[in-house]
Amino acid sequence: MIEKIRSAFETYRQEMLDDLAALVAIDSSGGEPAGEGMPFGEGPAKALNCFLKMAERMGFETDNVDNYAGVVSYGDGEETVGVLAHLDVVPAGKGWTTDPFTMVIKDGNMYGRGVIDDKGSAVAALYGMRIIRDLGLPLKRGLRLVVGTNEELGSKCMEYYVAHRQPPTLGFTPDASYPLIHGEKGSFWAKLFFDKEELPIVKMEAGEVFNAVPAECTVILDGSVDIDALKASADKGFSEGYPVMIDKCEDGTICMLVKGKAAHGSMPELGVNAIVSAAMILCDALGEKAGKLMHFAKDVLGRENNGKTAGVYFEDENGKLTLNLGLLRFEDGEGWLGTDIRFPVTGTGAYAAGLYQAMADKYGIRAEIPTPSEPHFVPEDSELVTTLLQVYRDVTGEQDAKSVTIGGGTYARHVGKKFVAFGPEFDDKDYRMHNADEFYPLDEYMKHCVICTMGMLKLAE
Ligand SMILES: [Zn+2]
Repeated sequence: MIEKIRSAFETYRQEMLDDLAALVAIDSSGGEPAGEGMPFGEGPAKALNCFLKMAERMGFETDNVDNYAGVVSYGDGEETVGVLAHLDVVPAGKGWTTDPFTMVIKDGNMYGRGVIDDKGSAVAALYGMRIIRDLGLPLKRGLRLVVGTNEELGSKCMEYYVAHRQPPTLGFTPDASYPLIHGEKGSFWAKLFFDKEELPIVKMEAGEVFNAVPAECTVILDGSVDIDALKASADKGFSEGYPVMIDKCEDGTICMLVKGKAAHGSMPELGVNAIVSAAMILCDALGEKAGKLMHFAKDVLGRENNGKTAGVYFEDENGKLTLNLGLLRFEDGEGWLGTDIRFPVTGTGAYAAGLYQAMADKYGIRAEIPTPSEPHFVPEDSELVTTLLQVYRDVTGEQDAKSVTIGGGTYARHVGKKFVAFGPEFDDKDYRMHNADEFYPLDEYMKHCVICTMGMLKLAE
């Protein structure tokens, strides 16, 4: 069957690539509503209508869910298998060597915004449905390809879809990586507010978002600070080799810029946190006068990235809690820290938030904790996971491939409990997704097409 599907994709190859190119040509980076019936702007709605037309051209039944999402259906059954993909993209950004909205095939790679995230997968699944239909096999579950238009900006498309339609019984989203992701940690973004103090620190700022390791921290100190002592502290290696710039300004204040290394908030251990570096330098140079906030950043959070000293840490056999210190705002003697907490799949939001609140109470800090997003977890021995993992092993020949849990959230969690992430990236490679020159090797794309189609078929038959 794998060979049959592979050769069917070869037959449709050019038509499929033309369809993908047509979708890439639409700038579907979302934004504000554009009048009646375009909840995420013109681009996402255009891409959705273009995609549904392709499906209709192939003779499929389609359903446009008010331009939030679309459904392509084949077959019936009490239960249905869903594939969830999205047609919106992140903005092109700068630095492309080719036009981001013109799909180019060069040296065996497809280039263009959305080729791997996630238009390529939407087209792959559509042709997969077509090939399954061509085969004419009896299916015990119907197939539903659900495409959304707001994944990159919060997945409100899926919320709307689930509220207005009956979602599929089980399935997968090809919007992450192979072999298979059966669990995603729970998470919340919490702030810690520190009381006002009289300090020689005028202002501090670091980070743009909770879910990234800040690579820069700026500090302004008043003229009472001994600049030589500060420089001596900066030279002690607290910033792990990243630069620290200290200068006297015309108004008599002292400016310090501490650099670090950025990383995603779900893997803070890959970065070097500039807030923590700044805290180490300031505490060394100023002692008590560095204030409670900086001492907390250095002594309680430090470089652990997991909240062990703070008392919020726990782990299970699937993974460990991570705590990323993403934000710092401080002015006029008071300020706050912003943290991104990702907790193991067997934990609950209430438990994790409880540990966080206990930490705040212990240190006398006011915490602002939003309702956590609960973990998403499908057991490894479920039909869904075992079936899809076997498909991956059979198509790739990697018989020891295993499913994993991750810290990030995928589309899977938005539709139901019986959804996992399955493809399209291989081997944790960098496909420059969300970046300039996003690409997808054509041979890997064809392999992904076969895996995705086999996945649908095995779950449906
Ligand atoms: Zn995506």
